[in-house]
Amino acid sequence: MTHFEPISPLSVLDPRDRGGPVQPLLTIQGLKKYFHSAGNSWFGAQSVVRAVDDISFVIHKGETLGVVGESGCGKSTTARLLMHLIKPDQGEIIFDGEKVGIDIPLTEFRRQVQMVFQDSYASLNPRLTIEDTISFGPRIHGMYESKARLISHDLLARVGLDPSRFAGRYPHELSGGQRQRINIARALAFNPRLLILDEAVSALDKSVEAQVLNLLQDLKEDFGLTYLFISHDLNVVRYMVDRVMVMYLGSIAEIGDGETVFSTPVHPYTKALLASMPSMDPDQPTREAPLSGDPPNPINPPSGCRFHPRCIMAEAACSQKRPALETTRHKKSMAACLLQNRDTPIPFPPIKVSGQ
Ligand code: SF4
Repeated sequence: MTHFEPISPLSVLDPRDRGGPVQPLLTIQGLKKYFHSAGNSWFGAQSVVRAVDDISFVIHKGETLGVVGESGCGKSTTARLLMHLIKPDQGEIIFDGEKVGIDIPLTEFRRQVQMVFQDSYASLNPRLTIEDTISFGPRIHGMYESKARLISHDLLARVGLDPSRFAGRYPHELSGGQRQRINIARALAFNPRLLILDEAVSALDKSVEAQVLNLLQDLKEDFGLTYLFISHDLNVVRYMVDRVMVMYLGSIAEIGDGETVFSTPVHPYTKALLASMPSMDPDQPTREAPLSGDPPNPINPPSGCRFHPRCIMAEAACSQKRPALETTRHKKSMAACLLQNRDTPIPFPPIKVSGQ
């Protein structure tokens, strides 16, 4: 898929529509979540973890937006904030032009936005049969039991499981891949418009993972879905997404067209992540990520650019000024790096080959 329009996190241009202004499905503006711990010093001072720190982005109708970053970067917290599973400290969530919690009630929003979690077993009630699991939501929302059961059988077939064999089973009788198909079917039972997939395939075997990814692609077409796809596996993200958002320590480091970000990354952190992708090619050994130092303590994040203690491109100004997200040179992504628009482009850092 080729994208021609400049991409802004707040753009209302659908890149698949070559410039036709359309309303984004989900708009996030200035989202913040700080977690406060109980005082742990003699003076009772609280420590604050800035899990998500003032991020703004949109998800266009019908697209898959990937979210990547190291553990603790705020990916899953962002997903939970979107679902209002945890309350944001600040920021607006606008769903199809309506402010969530004001113009559109939370119950209706949660029906239209469903989530699939990583742990397929913990996500299911071990005491409910598969049929009851899938039909539970529609029944709670007032649907007749007979119709809800018909829908659950139909959805079982749509996710590739024979209803006559699986409807009466319990979660412990299924494999991990089958359970994750049930979780997807249960999410679809609400007839949602947006699915948040939080590491939904990360716990599966590779062969099963490929089947579930293909299933998700088919369901997206069949049901007209939009995906927010969170994963630490960059190969999977590259296969699935239209656009990608790279997060670092609660902020957006880079966001833009998936092919562009993967082929010509701008932010040094994105480059480091991509450089560390495992290689299957014996002639191209996996490289060591060009990062220096350990991830900083989120309770006491670095001043200026939060990436500066690990960035091999850092200069003095990087520790003083926090970079804003700005359009990159190729106009297909945005990055938060003070040096991105210099006349001399940032050279790709020297890569050390593992084992040398
Ligand atoms: Fe590195 Fe400086 Fe850019 Fe931050 S602003 S990513 S420290 S070069």
